Amino acid sequence: MKNVFADNTWPTVRAALAGEKPVVAILPCGATEAHGPHLPLSTDVIISESMAHEALAGLAQHGITAVVLPPLAYAPAEYAEAFAGTITVSAAAATALLLDIARSLRAQGFACLAVANSHFDPANVAMLREAAETIRGLGLPVAFPDFTRRKLAQTLTEEFQSGACHAGQFETSLVLAARADLVDDAARAKLADNPSSLTEAFSKGARTFEEAGGPEAYFGFPRRASATEGRETCRVMAEALTRAVVEVVALRNQDAAPQQMR
Ligand SMILES: [Zn+2]
Repeated sequence: MKNVFADNTWPTVRAALAGEKPVVAILPCGATEAHGPHLPLSTDVIISESMAHEALAGLAQHGITAVVLPPLAYAPAEYAEAFAGTITVSAAAATALLLDIARSLRAQGFACLAVANSHFDPANVAMLREAAETIRGLGLPVAFPDFTRRKLAQTLTEEFQSGACHAGQFETSLVLAARADLVDDAARAKLADNPSSLTEAFSKGARTFEEAGGPEAYFGFPRRASATEGRETCRVMAEALTRAVVEVVALRNQDAAPQQMR
């Protein structure tokens, strides 16, 4: 089966699902959102897709077949709403779509839905956490490495952990590694450092990027970004995704074992 899910024909998918190996569907979750004057609106989609593809080799080593679904490119993104290009949808709309996707996957016999998310808007993360719980309740295991949780955040870069992590060094590096052609380097060269912590501002009640101290929709240090850092970060994120999937599939196999013996 091809790793890009939608490039397959339906008989190919049917054959893979009928095979011995568990088939995991990875859903890259992003947004269509302003990311500074230098990065594309698709930044989070690009990062999540890179993470998903980077995880494939590790999953294959664990005997898991994984495919990358068409990404979720619309999400709650109200903080960036004032910037041209941002398209924000309600958490209810995003949840409904996620649950319907999960129902289809479950009906067809996928072993697990893996959520590869890099859109860290608090409303989006809360929506994903809740949806993951609901989907598990529907009977489809979910692997969701949540990089906003301290344990995983600590595996990422210093800038990410500082909370000044929107279109800064962290995200710019990831886009440079995956799609350097989409980075406006002339615009990036002019950007002053902006160490304002977005996560701190959120917790103090800021409702927009402007209120959080990001009048151009970026935070952090975009000029310090490099493709080398981006490749390393992508590898670390993919490792977390792989670990989460392997754990979920192992649990599922344990649960399934007694039934097979009956
Ligand atoms: Zn982003």
